[in-house]
Amino acid sequence: MSKQILILPGDGIGPEIMAEAVKVLRLANDKFRLGFELTEDVIGGAAIDRHGVPLADETLARAQAADAVLLGAVGGPKWDKIERDIRPERGLLKIRSALGLFANLRPATLYPQLASASTLKPEVVSGLDILIVRELTGGIYFGAPRGQRQLDNGERQAFDTLPYSEGEIRRIARVGFDMARVRNRKLCSVDKANVLASSQLWREVVEEVARDYPEVELSHMYVDNAAMQLVRAPKQFDVIVTDNMFGDILSDQASMLTGSIGMLPSASLDANNKGMYEPCHGSAPDIAGQGVANPLATILSVAMMLRYSFEQAAAAGAIEQAVSQVLDQGLRTGDIAAPGCTRVGTQGMGDAVVAALSAL
Ligand code: NAD
Repeated sequence: MSKQILILPGDGIGPEIMAEAVKVLRLANDKFRLGFELTEDVIGGAAIDRHGVPLADETLARAQAADAVLLGAVGGPKWDKIERDIRPERGLLKIRSALGLFANLRPATLYPQLASASTLKPEVVSGLDILIVRELTGGIYFGAPRGQRQLDNGERQAFDTLPYSEGEIRRIARVGFDMARVRNRKLCSVDKANVLASSQLWREVVEEVARDYPEVELSHMYVDNAAMQLVRAPKQFDVIVTDNMFGDILSDQASMLTGSIGMLPSASLDANNKGMYEPCHGSAPDIAGQGVANPLATILSVAMMLRYSFEQAAAAGAIEQAVSQVLDQGLRTGDIAAPGCTRVGTQGMGDAVVAALSAL
């Protein structure tokens, strides 16, 4: 039976970068006889314009029926002033939580060709290869109660709640250990156990799970130290596992070590490795419609999809190799431009990856 992939281009540069990723996906589909069927739908601002909500029920049903989802990015100034509950980002939160995508994988890999694009010294970052595993459906972004109330003295007070159950911690810890096991066998669990009750349980449960993975070297680090170590000596890390909010911040920080957010893919997985794949960046309204956005993060998200949801490591590796070859050829979009390189647009970059992949 064919495998269904739902394509959700989204807003801003989403449709531009997705067009290139789909070209690469279609080629991989033919070349490696993957048997994928692609369908497309709307999410975010585009869905608000069409349905009045950022994620229509029928779109969610299609996502639930699909084997994997490939997403561009959502949001933009056009929808910034609408009611909070139907903002484009709500569509994203809803699809992640409805699909049970609790594990967010964000690699921060520095292609040697782009070492000079990082703001850190090349010797600090060259060869960087970190994977951040972030818990995505729990913690403070979803915790209740939350809101605002008025204090007796008339002041407004706002509050959020940071709950984590044992089961939520255990399943994300397992993903961290599983990933570390097939990489360099080092897992660093990041928390704030010196202050937060949720982090104390986090640390206890991670220690319990570690007993099943004697081959993985486990360490713990407080989040403030982790933020410091990521810029001081990032190559000390292999896999980092952490909660939703810490992971949100640290994965953006790690992405910048690599120079451009336009290069970084991500995967969000459920318990059965069904996943949603998307670039780490947003919809970049400042450059939308100009044909200059870097499509490589989305193309590399296709590679992650083939690896994690479909166990097609050879096809995934071929896409990654094609991207590396294109960088070797000196082709660069504006965000990774360097002296002596050839500047290309979104489509030019996509075409070059397609050409490199067909030649492999
Ligand atoms: P952004 O990631 O869209 O842009 C940040 C900067 O990086 C901009 O200067 C942009 O031009 C540049 N950039 C991003 N992707 C690029 C690419 N592929 N090639 C070249 N340059 C690229 O973040 P932002 O400006 O904070 O947010 C813009 C909109 O995107 C907002 O509406 C925000 O809510 C939304 N957003 C969506 C997601 C998502 O869909 N997952 C994530 C973050 C932000």
